[in-house]
This record gives sequence, C-alpha cells and structure tokens, in this order.
Amino acid sequence: MRPTMAETRHTKVLIIGSGPAGYTAGVYASRAMLSPILVQGIEPGGQLTTTTEVENWPGHSEIQGPDLMVNMETHARDMGTEIISDIITDLDVSKRPFTALGDSGTTYTCDAVILATGARAKWLGLESEDKYKGFGVSACATCDGFFYRGQEIVVIGGGNTAVEEALFLTNFASKVTLIHRRDELRSEKILENRLMKNEKIEPLWFHELVEVVGDDNPLGVTAVRAKHTKTGKITEIPCKGVFVAIGHAPANELVKDTLETHMGGYVKTQPDSTATSIPGVFAAGDLTDHKYRQAVTSAGMGCMAALEAERFLAEVEE
Ligand code: FAD
Ligand code: NAP
Repeated sequence: MRPTMAETRHTKVLIIGSGPAGYTAGVYASRAMLSPILVQGIEPGGQLTTTTEVENWPGHSEIQGPDLMVNMETHARDMGTEIISDIITDLDVSKRPFTALGDSGTTYTCDAVILATGARAKWLGLESEDKYKGFGVSACATCDGFFYRGQEIVVIGGGNTAVEEALFLTNFASKVTLIHRRDELRSEKILENRLMKNEKIEPLWFHELVEVVGDDNPLGVTAVRAKHTKTGKITEIPCKGVFVAIGHAPANELVKDTLETHMGGYVKTQPDSTATSIPGVFAAGDLTDHKYRQAVTSAGMGCMAALEAERFLAEVEE
C-alpha cells in the first residue's frame, strides 16, 4: 500500500528495492522476526518484469519473469514483510538511525538498511537516440515489441539481453538486424545457437550505431546508420524500431557519495559479505555485482544481507 500523508515510520530493517535481492531479503528478515519494511521503487519486481521466459531460476525449467516476481512479492508479504509502493529520494546513512525520504512524503527511519536498488538500462548517449526514445527507440522488447508487428527492427548489443530481445522480437518483426561492435557474442551458447538458427535474424558484426534517422511529423524512426568499426564505412538500415540492449549500470544514486564504490559505480562490499563501508548498511544484488548479475545470485545476496543485518542488530542491541 502507498502511505497517504506525510508521516514517519520506524523499522529495524528497511529494504530498498523489490527485485530478487529485495524480496529475498524480505523473506529472511521476516523469518528473523525483524518486521522489515520494503520500499518497491519505480519498477515493482525489478528487471525481470521486463522479460518473458526465465529458464535458469531453480525449480522452474521455465517461468515468465513477471510471474516469478509476483510469486516473490507474495512470498515476502506472506512471511511478514510490509511492502510499500514508494520511491526513496534521499538516504542519510551518516548516523543511526538511518533516515530515508520517500517520494510520498513519508520519512523512514531504520536501524539497518539493505540496499537492493539493482541496475538500469544503459543508453548509447546519441542525440538522435534521445530524440526518438519512446517513438521508435526502446530498451525493453517485452514492453514495446508488440508495436512493431510486421516491421523491421534493429537490436544493439551482443550480450544475453540483446540476443534474448532479438529472439523475442522475431515474434512480431518481419526482420531483426542484430548490430554488434565485435564478431563474437558474450551471451550464453544456448542463446547464441538459437539466434544463429533463426532465419528472421541477421547479425551485422563489427558495427556501431552512429545515428537514428527518422521523421519529425509524426515523430518516428525510419532507419539507423551504423559504422564499420574497422573500415569506418557507414551502412543505412531501414527499420521502424531500435532496441538498445548494451547492458545495465548500477542504480547507485542514493549512495554514490556516501559508500565506497568500484568498477564503475558498483557498491563495494566486504569479501564474502554484503557489508558496505558503513556498519549497518548492507548491499545486495546487481547494485554490488559487476560479475554475475543473475536473479539467483541477487536472491542469494538478499539472503546474506538479511542474515547479516540480523547479526548486526543483535550485536548493537546487546
Ligand atoms: P533489480 O531487479 O534491478 O531491481 C531493483 C529494484 O530496486 C526495483 O524494484 C526498483 O524499483 C528498486 N529501486 C531502484 N531505485 C530505488 C529507489 N530509489 N527507491 C526504491 N526502490 C528503488 N537473470 C537471470 O538470472 N535470468 C534471466 O533469464 C534474466 N533475464 C533478464 C532479462 C532482461 C531483459 C534483463 C534486463 C535482466 C535479466 N536478468 C536475468 C538479470 C536479472 O534480472 C537481474 O540480475 C536481477 O533482476 C537483479 O536483481 P536485483 O534485486 O539486484 O535488482
Ligand atoms: P552485458 O552482458 O554487459 O552485454 C552488453 C553488450 O552490449 C556487450 O555485447 C557489449 O559489447 C555491448 N555494448 C556495451 N556498450 C556498448 C556500446 N557503447 N556500444 C555498442 N555496444 C555496447 O549486458 P546484458 O546483456 O544486459 O546482461 C547483463 C547481465 O544480465 C549479464 O550478467 C547477463 O548474464 C544477465 N542476463 C541474463 C540472462 C539470462 O540468463 N538468460 C538474460 C539477460 C541478462 P562487448 O561484448 O563488445 O563488450
């Protein structure tokens, strides 16, 4: 539920984020009788709500991402986590109790905090990409693929996300061109094999997107220009949709000036731990993980964070 008026809520453990890390922390913190509050943020359920089949969550050979996240939310709530629809806009971890401000006007104070704000899509940073965002340029095939029935589409990137998006988009598109800056994918082999076998997908190796081309009235994409990384030759590819799938950056806005970060902004945690540079502040999931970035590893870290928060609180309360 969303609080209706400005108020202050105190909790022993505040969990910020509702992806696999946040919900798993909620399950464990609830079972430790810590009555946690979990604030969901702008994307309830996190990144997996933007995908279709998840085939590597143990216990399900296949489950839809949004369904998996609804199951996790229900599980956390059933165990006793209070789940709140709000966005934390500011977090003060300079003294305990820590203070978090919610966009709703609610102030949350807590004895320990678990940061599970995950990651967000990266963009190429082109002016033309920005111009057509929402008008042909997207970072979410599940959300926007449907609009491109019978059309030609390009996907940018060579990781799991790009390959999965390209495959998914063949359900709608007449043709999908996968533009990648190298000639080797970094996606899992099983996905690569599916991509190579799919007749609707044409990879364009050693190319980088340099411009999205389109009309102004109505605003919409008509083509992209891609540059060969070795020869510099420009190729124009007609398309109606451009899906940018070049990875994700950690959502560290709340703590980038207060906690130690590394590897381009990932929150640094102690070895084999979710403890950050400030006692009582724990970080889990994609916010800290520049290496694995999987649902199951995020959930694992959410579990660790809750167990470590429980131990921390027991020690400070002694
Ligand atoms: P996220 O899922 O990123 O969730 C972050 C949460 O933090 C969100 O709920 C957001 O609302 C919240 N938040 C952020 N800022 C604030 C704030 N200021 N206040 C409150 N809340 C906030 N992994 C797999 O294992 N298998 C797959 O098949 C798979 N498919 C994927 C497909 C796609 C398209 C993508 C993008 C990723 C995929 N992944 C997959 C990776 C997986 O989704 C992530 O590793 C996982 O979701 C990370 O979980 P998380 O809990 O760290 O954060
Ligand atoms: P990623 O693995 O970081 O791959 C990003 C891709 O984009 C790379 O191929 C990279 O090229 C390319 N790229 C990056 N910056 C670029 C730029 N400026 N211009 C052009 N190309 C650029 O990201 P991801 O695919 O989003 O995956 C993120 C994490 O989520 C991974 O850990 C992945 O395993 C996980 N995930 C898992 C699944 C699954 O398990 N099925 C599905 C989706 C995501 P280079 O290769 O040249 O670096």
